[in-house]
Amino acid sequence: MQEHLPAAHNPFIDLLPPQGIKLTPQHYAYLKISEGCNHRCSFCIIPSMRGDLVSRPIDEVLREAQTLADSGVKELLIVSQDTSAYGVDLQYQEGLWQDRHWRTRFYDLASALGELGIWVRMHYVYPYPHVDEIIPLMAAGKILPYLDIPFQHANSRILKLMKRPAAAENNLERIKAWRKICPDLTIRSTFIVGFPGETEAEFEELLAFLDEAQLDRVGCFTYSPVKGAAANDLPDQIPESVKEQRLARFMEKQAEISAARLQRRVGRIETVLIDEVVEEGAVARSQSDAPEIDGQVFIDGATHLQVGDFVTVEIEEADDYDMWARLV
Ligand code: SF4
Repeated sequence: MQEHLPAAHNPFIDLLPPQGIKLTPQHYAYLKISEGCNHRCSFCIIPSMRGDLVSRPIDEVLREAQTLADSGVKELLIVSQDTSAYGVDLQYQEGLWQDRHWRTRFYDLASALGELGIWVRMHYVYPYPHVDEIIPLMAAGKILPYLDIPFQHANSRILKLMKRPAAAENNLERIKAWRKICPDLTIRSTFIVGFPGETEAEFEELLAFLDEAQLDRVGCFTYSPVKGAAANDLPDQIPESVKEQRLARFMEKQAEISAARLQRRVGRIETVLIDEVVEEGAVARSQSDAPEIDGQVFIDGATHLQVGDFVTVEIEEADDYDMWARLV
């Protein structure tokens, strides 16, 4: 029915192109599914600035995704403050897209986007139990086998002090179970070291977690107080020098893990997406690499390729973060 359809785009009166404004190259786009957050992590002031979670109805999100795909976008990066909580505020309300009913819910979002036939990458997912449901979609190739989960720490006392969502989940067990279903799953995460009160033993627990979890891509920051954040009032702030040492120890350990995980891919045949063509060849990304934050795949000599092409390559070499490949 007409009243449920979006207004047709009129290029003479609309200021925006039908696919919206994308401050990213044409072949990939960020798709924001919600704004705000229901959590109150003690180091964060986003909820006080942006308010509680407000999800966009699923039909609206899917229509935008479809428009982007139709305009030539090859990869959608799903972003929000808490992607796994999508739709909670709307009581998972239903919407119509392509003659089917979908709930405003993380699983429905993932499975509907999986029908577009382009890469779909999930960012800012918290390890709630219902996240398990989307791993089979990844194993089936519907959405990219990639989860960006900001764990922030591994010690339960620190996680509680941080007031992190899903802090009580047994993340190591979950990661193992996910990898059993989807062996190619790439997990990216971020961590904070030197949170107020973090003892040497708690920091070492974090290092041990890295050993066990074998995460693929990891970012780490030293804790720094943000004006207005609750954690500023916590006792036992850690001296800067200790924070810096912990950051260096953390990064050293993770660099070894990342390098070993990339080495295992040498010799494999993979599909990559071309991001850039330069004088020496093409610069691409694998399924494991989100733009701007992860690694790249360099294909020497492949100057005939176009940005946005999907090509099949054999991985020939890897260092700590990037890989080199040849066309097959
Ligand atoms: S850090 Fe915590 S409070 Fe801040 S946006 Fe993320 S989940 Fe919400």
